[in-house]
This record gives sequence, structure tokens and C-alpha cells, in this order.
Amino acid sequence: MPTISSHALQAVAHLIARRMGSDESEAVQVADHLVRANLAGHDSHGVGMLPTYVRLLHAGLLVPNQTAETVLDAGALLVIDAKRGYGQRMAADAVRRAIVRAKETGACVLAFRNSSHIGRIGTYAELAAAEGCAFTAFVNVADHHDVQATWGSAEPRLGTNPFCAAVPGPDGPAVMLDMATTTIAAGKARVAYNKGVSVADGCLIDDAGNPTNDPTGFIRDKTGALRSFGTHKGSGMAVMCEIMASAVAGGQGAFHEAKGGVLNSMLATIIDLSKLGDPVAIAADIQAVKAHVRSARPAPGFDEVLTPGEPEKRYTARRLEQGIEVDDTTWRDIRAAAETIGIAAEEFDRTVGANHG
Ligand code: NAD
Repeated sequence: MPTISSHALQAVAHLIARRMGSDESEAVQVADHLVRANLAGHDSHGVGMLPTYVRLLHAGLLVPNQTAETVLDAGALLVIDAKRGYGQRMAADAVRRAIVRAKETGACVLAFRNSSHIGRIGTYAELAAAEGCAFTAFVNVADHHDVQATWGSAEPRLGTNPFCAAVPGPDGPAVMLDMATTTIAAGKARVAYNKGVSVADGCLIDDAGNPTNDPTGFIRDKTGALRSFGTHKGSGMAVMCEIMASAVAGGQGAFHEAKGGVLNSMLATIIDLSKLGDPVAIAADIQAVKAHVRSARPAPGFDEVLTPGEPEKRYTARRLEQGIEVDDTTWRDIRAAAETIGIAAEEFDRTVGANHG
């Protein structure tokens, strides 16, 4: 399994995005987003997504350099249709606009529709946190075959429908919950399959609706399903992500016909905490909540109690120093996808080698 520096991965992702047709600024944003996801430990949403993006490009289901349509711009309400644009840029641009609006009005509700895959939702929470804003997002996944079996189902009806909430802190979000509403993100089953390892108990069901640990059927044959996290409560949250992002925000839903792409829509709220109250007092209370939660005695099998977002910060510190392990199958798939857009093996290797330090 190669261990690659974040610089080298960024250079490869940038090369692929450029060759896919993205302009320089979009390619930089895409590459930066993907590598930050790897750094945060979310390999499911890192450079391993590039072969999917290349496939979507070839199928006409991802549009580089897309111009988003402003459907509604009315005070605290912003409705933006990304029209299958490259998600990492489309979503970041939309959230940046919403942050500016929140700074003017105190808060902004962003209904963001029909973007190609927007990756790790925490990236957008980080943008908001850097500007002193709290962030929440209900997100759905459409245009794709269903993968999530909700509570009591023997077959899937939804996507992995992520939810994210974060509050600002001194160095990025003080607390950030960023999660799929399935027990694991679909990309984590892909990473397990690529590594030839099992997934944990309770994550997957097979075609007959029975629990399984083997990701082969789910990834290779597109059978079975990921289970919602947290029994009926997590399942209910997945349903609300679907409703908020499709029915309320106006994006494509899982109930619409799928073309085999990956479309994300999102209903996000961004609140400027300096307009809501005294940001210093709010920050102190956030720290008090964190300290209170962390002060609990760890349960047997745990070394310490963490708050959401801490594992990602630790991963980032370690991987910045030690590099990012990319499994052999993922690396091979990225190289193969690169070849289909005219990046020969020599150019690929040269790019990695030149940026390895
Ligand atoms: P995860 O299960 O690794 O983590 C979920 C959350 O739990 C995180 O906030 C994390 O900080 C927190 N956490 C983890 N371990 C913890 C601990 N020991 N103590 C306290 N908190 C802890 O994440 P996931 O559900 O696999 O999601 C991975 C990524 O996939 C996310 O970035 C998400 O946005 C992304 N995603 C995107 C899409 C999409 O369509 N764009 C769909 C699904 C998921």
C-alpha cells in the first residue's frame, strides 16, 4: 500500500481535474477538498472519488466549469441550482455566498440543488466556522441507485444522506458533527472492498435483508444495502435529510428516475454568531459543553471521551506528517481513470515523484 504525501496527492488530483476540463481555480478547489478529506481520515471522500468523477464526466453527468443558476435571492433566502457542476467548487461557492449574506442579515438559509457530488460536507462547515458562523446541513443523494435501507426495510430506498452541524472555534470548528446517516458511508464499504477486509457488524444487509460483513455484494454486484445508523432514530434523520434537500430545497430526490450520476442537494443554515449574541460568551459556553462532555469517565474499552470533529483533527495532524496511505486498488483505479483522459503512466508517475517531498 503506497503512502503518499499530501502534496503529491494534491498534484495528482489537480492534474486529473485539469485534464477533465476544469479551469485552474476549479481544479485547485477540487484537489484541495479531496486531499483535505483524506487528511481528515475520510478516505471515502478523498482522491479515491476521482475514478467516479471521471466516469461521470464521460457519461455527461458531471459538468466542469459550470455556471450555477441563482433561482431566488431574497434577503435571508438563497436558492442556487448547480446544474450538475463540479460539486466541490459549486457547493463552496454557494456556501461562501451564504456566509456573506449571513454577515449582512444575521442568518442565511441556503437551498442548494442538483450539484454533482459535493464530497465531505464538513469542508463547508469549516468555511462557515472560519467566519464565526454556526452551520447545519441536511443533504441527500440522488440520481444514483438507492443504497440505504431505512429502519425495518429489507431493501434500500435512500442514499447515504449526510447531516452536518458545526460551531466555530479558535482553530477551525470547535465541534463538528459530520456524518452519513448510514452506519458507514458508501465509500467506506468501497475502501473495505478494495482492501479485501470485512465491514463492522450492523453496517450491511445482503440481498435477502440479512446482516452481512462482506462488502462484495454491495460494491461489486450492487445488491443488499447499508443500514441506517441508530435504529429508527437515525433512519428518521435520513428521511428528513431527503425531505429537506429534495422537497424543501427543491433538489432531485431519491424518488426521481436515476441516470446513474451522483447528485447532492442541501438545505443549509448559516448563522453569524456575532449577530445572535456575544460571540465571546458563546465561545466560552461551547468550550464548557466540550469540557463537560469530555470530563466523563471513559467506558471500558475507551481511553478517553472525544467530541465530534476531534478524530478528524488528530488524523489531519498525523497524516500531514506521515503521509496518506492509499490502498493498492484505489491507486490502480486512479491511474486507470487518469489514462482514459490522456494522462499516461509516465506523466502520472512524474507528477507524484516531483511533489513527493
Ligand atoms: P464517521 O463515522 O467517521 O464520523 C462521523 C462523526 O462522528 C464525525 O463528526 C466524527 O468526528 C465523529 N466521531 C467519530 N469518532 C468519534 C469518537 N470516538 N468520539 C466522538 N465523535 C466521534 O463519518 P461517516 O459517517 O463515515 O462520514 C464520512 C464523510 O462522508 C463525512 O465527511 C460526510 O460528509 C461524507 N458523506 C458525504 C456524502 C455525499 O453524498 N456527499 C454522503 C455521505 C457521507
